Amino acid sequence: MAEEVKKHRTPPDPNSAKYKLNAIAAKAYADAQAAKEAGEMVGWCSSNFPVEIPETLGLAVCYPENQAAAIAARGAGERMCEVSEADGYSNDICAYARISLAYAKIKDAPEQNMPQPDFLLCCNNICNCMIKWYENLAKELSIPMIMIDIPFNPDYEVSEAEVVYIREQFLAAIRQLEKITGKKWKEERYKEVMEYSGRTSRAWLAATACAKYKPSPFNGFDLLNHMAVMVTARGKAEAAEAMETLLKEYEENHKNGVSTFREEEKHRIMFEGIACWPWLRVTSTALKSRGINMVTTIYADAFGFVYKDFDDMCRAYAKVPNAINLEMARDKRVKLCKDNAVEGLLVHTNRSCKLWSGFMYEMSRQIGEACDIPVVSFDGDQADPRNFSEAQFETRVQGLAEIMEERKGAAK
Ligand code: SF4
Repeated sequence: MAEEVKKHRTPPDPNSAKYKLNAIAAKAYADAQAAKEAGEMVGWCSSNFPVEIPETLGLAVCYPENQAAAIAARGAGERMCEVSEADGYSNDICAYARISLAYAKIKDAPEQNMPQPDFLLCCNNICNCMIKWYENLAKELSIPMIMIDIPFNPDYEVSEAEVVYIREQFLAAIRQLEKITGKKWKEERYKEVMEYSGRTSRAWLAATACAKYKPSPFNGFDLLNHMAVMVTARGKAEAAEAMETLLKEYEENHKNGVSTFREEEKHRIMFEGIACWPWLRVTSTALKSRGINMVTTIYADAFGFVYKDFDDMCRAYAKVPNAINLEMARDKRVKLCKDNAVEGLLVHTNRSCKLWSGFMYEMSRQIGEACDIPVVSFDGDQADPRNFSEAQFETRVQGLAEIMEERKGAAK
């Protein structure tokens, strides 16, 4: 009989950034559940809502986009989408929305549970689909929804009129939340939250910028995992501390010539669009096996908010990648490609994000031209596994790898 070979897994180091970041992400759900059980009101919140508001008020909030990503990554995206579709929600609407509406109905998903909401916090700087998704939740659950509208900005700078428009909505949201929950806004606490948020964001942006080193000290897929903390906990002291540890680790990796990307880094690419959570392993293996490191993505930096006061915070929330014009969105990406010596662009044309996908065709053409890099795209979906073709993905990545290889050969 063959002897059983036991694999020894090294226990995670509790002082490592990975351990700390995973613990923070898990604690966010546990804290919300504990608050609910203690009789506190709990909110559901869109990912680019100003988290400084619930954090300052001491309110526990959960993030449906994060929950939907976790459910999809653990294999239940299709099952949950089908629950919503059976209720008449079109297969054409965002898969995160379908998963979330299903969860609000059946109230259980062992892949990632979270407490049911007493209020909703919605901001359309992610996309306008968010408004209808949250309006339907509010109607189905008969709970209040607080809406913040960030207008599309055709200019590079955020005008004073826009700052005033956003500031008044932030202040109104604080007043509404005080009324709904009985909690009180305290200026001293806001200053603390603002400081933590700044520390977390600065460390995160500096950590992601370590991709400028060759080889990059990290595997770009790390960013997709660590982003959860930037979404859910950026205003917390422990998040600031964990991100500073991450930055230190990346700098040390660089000094020691090591990386969390375990293969030889043959090519460096930018990834555009949300990860395909149900197909994460397939997509990461297809890249890794060809020595392709996804060193950067705009959606990592999107959650780094650096500002100096309340008005500046309004400006920061008006400048997130999905709320800006094509020229500014393109220039930010071109800068990332150039700063990080990117050799190719891989675009996920996400079926859920219809408006963005149309916009992205022209933008990626312009990025390819400005950076002189090849661009390939594949069809997929961030949470509905039915909208992905492994064969298509493989072929596109293979094509990208061949072009990058050929260009390198020609440059020798
Ligand atoms: S449509 Fe896209 S951007 Fe909008 S909520 Fe869904 S995944 Fe996010």
